[in-house]
Amino acid sequence: MATRNPRFLSDLTAFDLREGGFQTAVLPVGATEFHGDHLPFSTDTIAATAIAERLAQELDGALVLPSLAYGMSLHMMNWPWSLSLRPETLTRVVVDIAESLLAYGITRLLVVSAHDGNPPCIENAARELNDRHGMVVAIFGGWQGLSQRLLAGEWAIDQDHGGQSEMSMTLYAAPHLARPDLAFDLPQQQFDYPVEVRGSFSNVVPHGFSGTPTKGSAEEGAAIIEALAEHVGAFLKNLEANGWTNGSWMSGITIREGERDPRAKAGSRRPAAGSGEL
Ligand SMILES: [Zn+2]
Repeated sequence: MATRNPRFLSDLTAFDLREGGFQTAVLPVGATEFHGDHLPFSTDTIAATAIAERLAQELDGALVLPSLAYGMSLHMMNWPWSLSLRPETLTRVVVDIAESLLAYGITRLLVVSAHDGNPPCIENAARELNDRHGMVVAIFGGWQGLSQRLLAGEWAIDQDHGGQSEMSMTLYAAPHLARPDLAFDLPQQQFDYPVEVRGSFSNVVPHGFSGTPTKGSAEEGAAIIEALAEHVGAFLKNLEANGWTNGSWMSGITIREGERDPRAKAGSRRPAAGSGEL
């Protein structure tokens, strides 16, 4: 039987939030797009939600928001049933959600994306929210590339679309939706190039997926989640300890009180960074 998660806004009632709210929220952003015959259209949303839920455990009392199941998937539209937001729509959706949260005292937002088309749109939202409200928006994306580095020598993590590691993540987080019985293997996609050329994914992988989904496993998915939790979790704890400033990872530089935002000193109409004023 499904259980209620006290960190998920979608699971709570007003009663649960009456005694006090949250200062930090986590927004999972996925996609609805083609992943071959062997993985569901929700593959990226499943991954974003699983990673967000695990990272929220590393943050002290963060609220996990309902997952955004649509992303910027214009490069996937050559395959049927992929659904895409325009880049500017995704940016506006993130801004709208974040501005709603400000009214309830949430000034710190971690956005967890599991789809490559999303981060540029989220970054635009993050810069706007910080400039306008002093809200701090941290963005986590690229779970495949990071876990590939973290687990090198232990697991053969790939960066393929619809490949081994997305199969592993789905077998771990939503096994009832994976169809390993329909999987077959293709060459892995190569990512070692110095210049990004943006266009339809059909120019990259004619089948709409690549890699070796038949080699995916729930055990690999669990290893990915734990490696991300340990590595990203350590960073998030440091971020919290430093009051969620974008200088959190710089050592040896101390910002003295009053030096943090020169605009506040100058009496600008803009609120000081991190003040959370609307
Ligand atoms: Zn995917």
